[in-house]
Amino acid sequence: MAVKKITKIGVMTSGGDSPGMNAAIRAVVRTGNYYGLEVFGIVRGYQGLIDDDIYKMDNKSVANIIQRGGTILKTARCKEFFEYEGRKKAYENLKKRGINGLVIIGGDGSFRGGKRFHEEFDIPSVGIPGTIDRDIVGTEFTIGFDTAVNTAVEAIDKIRDTMDAHDRMFIIEVMGRDAGFIALHSGIATGAENILIPERKTDIQDMIASLKEKEKRKKLVNLIVVAEGDEFGGAEGVNKIIKEHLPEMDTRICVLGHIQRGGSPTCIDRVIASRMGYHAVECLINGTFNIMIGIKENRINHTPLEKAAKLKTRVSDEWMKIVKILAS
Ligand code: ADP
Repeated sequence: MAVKKITKIGVMTSGGDSPGMNAAIRAVVRTGNYYGLEVFGIVRGYQGLIDDDIYKMDNKSVANIIQRGGTILKTARCKEFFEYEGRKKAYENLKKRGINGLVIIGGDGSFRGGKRFHEEFDIPSVGIPGTIDRDIVGTEFTIGFDTAVNTAVEAIDKIRDTMDAHDRMFIIEVMGRDAGFIALHSGIATGAENILIPERKTDIQDMIASLKEKEKRKKLVNLIVVAEGDEFGGAEGVNKIIKEHLPEMDTRICVLGHIQRGGSPTCIDRVIASRMGYHAVECLINGTFNIMIGIKENRINHTPLEKAAKLKTRVSDEWMKIVKILAS
């Protein structure tokens, strides 16, 4: 089959934002221009596609953004795109400009939308994983995870100073939706005594027993890092359980929240975003599409868009053993 010649491409950020998306946009625009393609920015993801909020981008449009968090193209969730009529409108807007390739920077939801769109209207699409949760099949990196986890570490380190001064227990909730990678990594990096993640059932009796034992030997400083999607319902839920068993314990809660999504992306996020953006354009030009660009063992990896779903992993016993031994 002859490869359809791509001449004009659209780039968008969709779904949840993550730091490093701008670096990916920059890479797509500059690589596209390098290869003589016209590149269009689509504002607010699928919403902008439907609303015809689309503008031409050149190398200057992406100057001085590699270090900025958020996304210059803005992002959104778009109900209308779930409906055929919405997707048809989106297609008409691409068609009238002659845009015949799409780069979708987003999460698994955005890829599901892209796959449907491609099936119905045959617009070649390539996905780039942008999510702080790092929970997408086919890649060991997602844009934003490294920045988010470093932001969490910085914040937890600060909390540890005051926690230590007061001999207090802190329960810190980090993001990740139903994935525990931010909690696991930031917890290990800050020496958390307990890390509670959705991927593992927590033996609460065991945790209480160890807290009691620590209380006995006057180790009063305890840091618990809990993922927002944990079985107990985040920091509030964990605190409630601890208070039921240890009413005298001086505990504090801190929900880190949206600071984890913002800020200047780390070097790792900028580099992976740049590599992924470059490869996304190369793929469109070479006729490899309906895939997501990932990185595995430091090599670019392609996953069909329909398989680029949420990653459900087991966190091995060894990880939890490391947490336990190092925090004793
Ligand atoms: P993320 O990409 O971060 O996982 P969402 O799951 O909210 O975020 O998806 C982003 C957008 O992708 C949705 O608001 C919707 O417009 C589109 N989308 C998601 N799933 C589908 C689907 N099954 N069909 C059509 N569009 C979809």
